[in-house]
Amino acid sequence: MKNKLLQIKNLSKTYHSLHDSTLAVDDVTFDIYEKEFVAIVGPSGCGKSTILSILAGIEEKSSGEIKFNKSDVRLAYMLQKDSLFPWRTILDNCLIGLEVTHNLTEENKNYVLHLLDTYGLHDFIYKYPESLSGGMRQRVALIRTLAIKPDILLLDEATSALDYQSRLTISDDIYKIIKQEGKTAIMITHDINEAISMADRVIVLTKRPALIKKIYTIKLTNKSTPIQNRKCIEFNDYYDKIWRDLDVKF
Ligand code: ADP
Ligand code: MG
Repeated sequence: MKNKLLQIKNLSKTYHSLHDSTLAVDDVTFDIYEKEFVAIVGPSGCGKSTILSILAGIEEKSSGEIKFNKSDVRLAYMLQKDSLFPWRTILDNCLIGLEVTHNLTEENKNYVLHLLDTYGLHDFIYKYPESLSGGMRQRVALIRTLAIKPDILLLDEATSALDYQSRLTISDDIYKIIKQEGKTAIMITHDINEAISMADRVIVLTKRPALIKKIYTIKLTNKSTPIQNRKCIEFNDYYDKIWRDLDVKF
């Protein structure tokens, strides 16, 4: 049995403005285990990003409990846009988190260089973001996120700004890097295929306010990389079930 890393209990969030209030997340409960890859899918505007923002400490919860089963759990956030600084080299972009947290030690810098080397970016470390493809920039963004050695990675639609072909490739890259580095990941996506192909479990949310509709443990025969996983015989069955859960109307 794997270790429970994070417990989210009865989490709710209401946004208040001057004239009205919006219940965005309603009584959401789930656990995250160490080294697990969990995908959260749900209709647009249902409250997915709100859940991650609360976990990351960017937004405050209205009620509920978030419990980390380890002290000093470090979280890192990766967004849809790579938001690399165009005036900084790839290496300097990856070092920025260490710089602002005053952790730019020789050891940490070597770790970043090791990651860039391992994941095919060695020849680009002194280049600028404009000379890289969208997929490569997302790989850089992931390495920048890993530089601070987080325990949990929060990925919010990290591939959705890319074209289909690049998304397939970067999903494979992201998956391999996260698994090889032994990280725990919570990924939001509106792409059912992406969720099934990458995740150990898929949490399906209802439309706003987000309630948990179902949680699937993805069991695939010959599970390997996300691209390969799409060919597994169970894949379509999961797809059909989640599609129905989401109640997508044409
Ligand atoms: P998702 O990521 O699933 O598309 P969000 O979590 O971004 O959805 O938003 C859920 C709901 O909460 C939406 O109706 C959105 O308009 C609202 N919302 C999100 N952020 C804020 C905010 N800062 N203030 C007020 N309402 C917000
Ligand atoms: Mg969102």
